[in-house]
Amino acid sequence: MSQSSFSTIAESLQWAYSLLVDSSESANIDAEALLLHCINKQRSFIYTWPEKVLTTDQFKAYKAMVEKRQQGVPVAHIIGEREFWSLPFIVNATTLIPRPDTEILVETALNLPVAETAKVLDLGTGTGAIALSFASERPQWQITAVDKVTDAVELAKANRQNLNLTQVEILQSDWFSAIEGQQFQLIVSNPPYIDEADEHLAMGDVRFEPSSALTAGDAGFADLFHIATHARAYLSEGGYLLLEHGFEQALVVRQKLIDLGYDNVATVRDFGSNDRCTLGQWNKV
Ligand code: GLN
Repeated sequence: MSQSSFSTIAESLQWAYSLLVDSSESANIDAEALLLHCINKQRSFIYTWPEKVLTTDQFKAYKAMVEKRQQGVPVAHIIGEREFWSLPFIVNATTLIPRPDTEILVETALNLPVAETAKVLDLGTGTGAIALSFASERPQWQITAVDKVTDAVELAKANRQNLNLTQVEILQSDWFSAIEGQQFQLIVSNPPYIDEADEHLAMGDVRFEPSSALTAGDAGFADLFHIATHARAYLSEGGYLLLEHGFEQALVVRQKLIDLGYDNVATVRDFGSNDRCTLGQWNKV
């Protein structure tokens, strides 16, 4: 189909789909998401008004976005936003795009029996997705979020501002380096955990995300183990550590937490039924 600037919504979607179907597993969803962004509407609009004609500017913008997607650029990077925990997060190439899988970490943390005013730490916060979701649900938690990457710290601060969740403290820190001597009732992290040799790193959206947010040494366990080891000094009596990990890493992470002296070690599955998070309680202060 040759594409003039007088295309309807339905024709534009069909055109985009035909361009994306070979390169994207989610061609339909991508075509829709990009179009909604261009016309600044909710999803129901495109089904209510499929015959509506795009303006020349709208179609030009759409074409440019679909072409970027065809080159593999993640939709979240093209539109600069990704929803997580029903909140809109600004995203860019400096850190990980928030994943729906990580919502199980948020849900698990919110169900832990911690104080209403608990001190909570999010290590490697990236966009700030976890810490800011906590803040939206538990306004009285005293939340600190850290990241080693300065640009990620700036991004998390922009999200804090945008979501007006100003109570969250955001710091540049190499894991625990900037929070020496502090104690938390809950420490969470979605650290890099993919094996540097994992062939999936050459496929799909992860190609456009920084390895600093994705990969770790020791078959992906280096940061998970580092955090689990050092968190013990930063957890108050009875405090919890909750870590996201790869779907095949649960057994090893559980054993590591047990070896390090954590109690009540357990793994939680994500909504795709994959082992996704493991928690432990520290009772030995
Ligand atoms: N779950 C992500 C993925 O598989 C990785 C997230 C991470 O490394 N923390 O792409």
